[in-house]
Amino acid sequence: MSSQDFDISTIAIHGGRSLDSHASSVLFPLYQTSTFVHDAVGVDKGFSYSRVSNPTVDALEKAIGALEGTPPAVCFRTGMAAVTTLFLSVLKAGDHAVLSDVVYGGTMRLFREVLDNLGISASFVDTADPANVEAAITPATRIVFLESPGNPTLKLTDIAAVAAITKRHSILLAVDNTFLTPVLQKPLELGADISLLSTTKYIDGHNATLGGSLATCDEVLLERFRLIRKTIGTTQAPFEAWLVLQGIKTLPARLKLHCQNAQIIAEWLEGHTAVSRVYFPGLDSCSQKALADRQQGAPGGMIAFELRAGYDATIRALNAVKLCLRAESLGGLE
Ligand code: PLP
Repeated sequence: MSSQDFDISTIAIHGGRSLDSHASSVLFPLYQTSTFVHDAVGVDKGFSYSRVSNPTVDALEKAIGALEGTPPAVCFRTGMAAVTTLFLSVLKAGDHAVLSDVVYGGTMRLFREVLDNLGISASFVDTADPANVEAAITPATRIVFLESPGNPTLKLTDIAAVAAITKRHSILLAVDNTFLTPVLQKPLELGADISLLSTTKYIDGHNATLGGSLATCDEVLLERFRLIRKTIGTTQAPFEAWLVLQGIKTLPARLKLHCQNAQIIAEWLEGHTAVSRVYFPGLDSCSQKALADRQQGAPGGMIAFELRAGYDATIRALNAVKLCLRAESLGGLE
């Protein structure tokens, strides 16, 4: 049976998993080592140095590949290491990228502070209308990069519609799927070439690690990602990989509860007199609800909202919050 014959909650526990060959431990072992002995010059057991590959990181890459429905993913030390490796893999001086105008701030900063200095340019456009993507493509454009839902206002993009455009122009489409994970949205099935995750968030789910991944069915791209990763040293660490391997098992169950809770809270916020606007694709008032219903398995667990109050009163409201933690990140149980 292939992985795809099983429900995603089974794949999260068993997909791409193998027992350890030494002691058959149920949990794959932690190979906390920087280097591996060669039996003779040029003879090894498939591992040489952990910046290149490591059995525990390999195990995580197989598990994420099983979730994505792809060959083993390529895992990175942070989500931003995945983003950086992606762009350094496919762009060179003189090239151009098109991105959503609502993407994680770190991705914008990467272009403005680093890639721009290397002669790589970007246009940030309102991808809610795919026509804006097509209009921004130039002869130098090599990749379109979307977040749907986007961080922080949850703007959605019709991934299949943008994929039709990128295919027509023979350029790549990458989707940062951190907010939904492959449990709720599979970008490659919608026509994207590359799916990116910050595993720091829902995939780990316990606020224990930082990490990222890139998944694709294109073997040439996978090879390129591995080459750039080992060259610039953005590889995931074994202990982090081991922890994420445990977190993934409960991902579908956690997401179900995150989504239920978010729906209740979004509806409550919408009815609250102090709230002027709620951004949540599960609300009937959301102008993109039809797209969410079509494209996503569920609205997701993230909510954004605006208060009628001014800045100072808004800060007071944030400082008065009970139970929720005032902490940067998302997707953790807390
Ligand atoms: N992508 C999205 C959508 C994010 O929200 C974040 C971080 O918040 C990142 C990428 C970067 O991930 P990391 O913090 O693991 O580097």
